[in-house]
Amino acid sequence: MRNRAAKSQKRKVGLALGGGVARGLAHSAVSIVLFRVIPSILVISALAATSAACGGRATSVEEHKPPAKEEQKLEPTQEQPTTIPYTLQDLKESGELDTLLSIEENALNPGGNDHTELVKKVFEASYYEVTGYTSEEHNISIEIITEEAYKARVPDIPHLKNSSAFSFTLVNEKGAGYGVLLQGEGPTAQVLRGVAHEAGHIREVIFKEKERYEPDLICKDILYGFSEGIARQFESTIMRKIQEYIDINLLEFVDSGTNRSYIENKLKLDENRGREKITYLISWLAILDDPELKDLKRELETNKMLSVEQLLKLNDYFISIPERDRCDYINDRLSKLNMYLPRIHEIAKSRLIPDMYGKDGLNPRAGLLLP
Ligand SMILES: [Zn+2]
Repeated sequence: MRNRAAKSQKRKVGLALGGGVARGLAHSAVSIVLFRVIPSILVISALAATSAACGGRATSVEEHKPPAKEEQKLEPTQEQPTTIPYTLQDLKESGELDTLLSIEENALNPGGNDHTELVKKVFEASYYEVTGYTSEEHNISIEIITEEAYKARVPDIPHLKNSSAFSFTLVNEKGAGYGVLLQGEGPTAQVLRGVAHEAGHIREVIFKEKERYEPDLICKDILYGFSEGIARQFESTIMRKIQEYIDINLLEFVDSGTNRSYIENKLKLDENRGREKITYLISWLAILDDPELKDLKRELETNKMLSVEQLLKLNDYFISIPERDRCDYINDRLSKLNMYLPRIHEIAKSRLIPDMYGKDGLNPRAGLLLP
């Protein structure tokens, strides 16, 4: 764990520079190449939203296949390969997984209990089992802090000031690192989801093609929604991996009028909140419409949900779509929304169970909105 200490030190150096060096939302500007060219520059970039761009080039789906994992792997900063000290099976056997899921108080309680180490342990084991890499190998550092400390450290950007978590890229002469900063004063299971969500944003930055395009405003909004979708998918993937070790089905919800209207209202497109709608709709539309994803379609039609493996495949596939092609890809799918919407609602509603006692704290209803 000595590298964690080193990374923690590195992060402190970056954050000490505060909002002054935060490059707004320009996470796509940061790459491993960048810091090697200008090694003396220390850069911290918020990843909480995308500034990515979209050109107008038509895309063939073949171009979207994710590169092989070995080609994508970041160079670890340490000489020795990292190993994970505990698996989800270990955490299940030790009772720690059940403990975490039954905690009803906040993850961090100033003057009281602190469950943040347990949150990190469960996340790290899940990340390793989902991706095959430790979060250390991907240079991801996680800090869960009080609301007061968070407000003091978050860059001075309006939507970040009001957030409960953000992720950032930190680049210095030693290499690229990625940080997640979260407020711990929230329900423990939700804090765990927050870590997984931000890790999803980081994965996109690590693996997507580095390019610079200036999108028009409409495309910019679509790209923002798409990146949020990628992060939510990854969050969902982590939670479904954990589900393999617990007795709760995270995709079953109470069959209530509220949940039915929740699905209908969220899974549709409207003028005002297009960005948020794209976040969820694009996953369904891609699976049902993209011929490259026909294996996923088969699984979704049969099981009414995707397995962890297929969710990760979808995540990698989306990340591999170059930014300049994303708006065309999404607009093509959205143009067929009316055709697919009844089927999307049907599958989502098939997870509503009559007479069920919900455990929504673990999987807030967002789980209803993703395949
Ligand atoms: Zn996000």
